[in-house]
Order: sequence, then C-alpha cells, then structure tokens
Amino acid sequence: MNECIFCKIVSGEMDATIVYKDEQVTAFRDIHPVAPTHILVVPNRHLASTNEVTEQDEQLLGHMLAVVKPIAEQEGIAESGYRLIINTGPDANQVVYHLHLHIIGGQHMRHPMG
Ligand code: 5GP
Ligand code: ZN
Repeated sequence: MNECIFCKIVSGEMDATIVYKDEQVTAFRDIHPVAPTHILVVPNRHLASTNEVTEQDEQLLGHMLAVVKPIAEQEGIAESGYRLIINTGPDANQVVYHLHLHIIGGQHMRHPMG
C-alpha cells in the first residue's frame, strides 16, 4: 500500500490545488506557502529524491524544469522572478520523500539565499 502523500495527490486520492498536470508531472500549491506563490512540481511516478535519479530519468527531470515557465507565466511571476529549490535528505530538511521542485515567488527574496 502506498502511503506517499504526493502519490495520493497525483492519483486524486488526496485533495490539492492543482495548477498544472500532464502525463509526466503534476504541480500544486504548497499547503504552507512561504511566499505569495509557492508551487510544488512532482513527477507522477514515485521517486523519493534526487538520490534515486538515474540516467533513465533524464527526460523526466528536464520536463520538470520545462514546465516551470508556463506555470510561472500562469502565476504572473515569470517576469518578476522566482526561486527553484529541491531539498534532498535530512540536512536539507526534506520532509516529503517524493521528489519535488519548489517554485517560490511573488515577493523579493534576499540574495543569494534566505
Ligand atoms: P520539503 O521540505 O520536503 O522540500 O518540502 C515539503 C513541502 O510539502 C513543504 O513545503 C510542505 O508545506 C508541503 N506539504 C506537505 N504536506 C503537504 C500536503 O499534504 N499538501 C500540500 N499541498 N503540500 C504539502
Ligand atoms: Zn510518492
């Protein structure tokens, strides 16, 4: 039985505000946004983290980045800017072990991090 919450969001078993979906990825609003726009892009197929990525996943990972622009345009942050973050493992505070790309924008962020 799959207990992964992001797999459940992908399958529709669990609610989320989905902003983009295709055959490879799903994007939805983070439940605890840290900025006015905070979206998570996840592969529809379960991958725990970048530590599970293999050469077979290269097209999928490229696609995760390729969908960012249309999502950012839809959210009205393509021009103002946004930050992309992937957390992997305990030192990065990865909480959900289903690979996800954070798109964070809608407010100015200090440079280079934080
Ligand atoms: P991580 O630290 O693993 O990179 O981030 C996990 C993110 O998932 C957090 O920003 C958290 O707010 C978000 N999140 C956790 N559970 C849920 C949920 O059930 N629904 C949604 N939409 N986001 C979630
Ligand atoms: Zn999963």
